[in-house]
Amino acid sequence: MEQKEIHILNTARKMLKERDANVQFILEAYESSLDGPSRRLIHLWAGRSYYSRGDYYLARREMIHVGAPWLGHFFPSGERVIENDFFRFHIMPMVKSKKAQRFIIAYTKNYNRMKALVGTLKLIKKIDVYVFSDSRDMLGNDLCYTDAETLSIYTNYEIKGAHEIIHSMLAVRYGDQKLNDFVNEGVATWYDTGNMSWFIFAHNKCGCSITAQEIEKKIVGAKKDREYYYIAGLTIGYLLCLGCTIDELIHIPDVELRSCLLLRMGRTLFKDIESYYSRKGF
Ligand SMILES: [Zn+2]
Repeated sequence: MEQKEIHILNTARKMLKERDANVQFILEAYESSLDGPSRRLIHLWAGRSYYSRGDYYLARREMIHVGAPWLGHFFPSGERVIENDFFRFHIMPMVKSKKAQRFIIAYTKNYNRMKALVGTLKLIKKIDVYVFSDSRDMLGNDLCYTDAETLSIYTNYEIKGAHEIIHSMLAVRYGDQKLNDFVNEGVATWYDTGNMSWFIFAHNKCGCSITAQEIEKKIVGAKKDREYYYIAGLTIGYLLCLGCTIDELIHIPDVELRSCLLLRMGRTLFKDIESYYSRKGF
């Protein structure tokens, strides 16, 4: 791809990400100067832009230009759509209705529970939740995950926890601001599972043996394995219990978070956490 084409694409992408951008105008301005594959990218981003405002009709109109599998990612065939006040559930054909029903009840309950913790939010559109019987979505992505930009969750029906709901709520609350990943995962993991049995479980998995260097590696963008979530949940849960707010935590850059957690608390961090939780009766 030529330098000029890359520049055009980058500019268009940036503009289309803005929620109040005039999508039709941007499309017309950039489409003609691009060839086939790049032109499809513009339509994909335009579709996502409409979708993120809840304009599903126009989103579909753009996605048709993109074709499979992206069209199916947003508008799967054979899905059942069930809506309530906050969610639009897209139930895939393989998910039996009893299982779907249980999933919807659990998700709605979790949303209400999380509202008390994260605060009431002004949703731009309902949260779209794609519910699969498989462990992958139609693009082959591992489930579950949240697409913050389009405010959608892709999940298996057996995963009924609040983790992805919290990611969606944080995405609404903080909009386009870049969130610290360690904090984002920590808040989601802690609020979803932060109870006595989870604490003991996570602590046994990593808390006893973890060194400051290992925590540091996790914080500065190591592979997001299971341990990453345990450490994020324990650490951020601890800071929340100490009275830090999500607002304060979420904007700490990685570097500062690292120095705050490691330089100030150093190797004793997990000892502090452990004694804190044991004082609390964990
Ligand atoms: Zn997560």
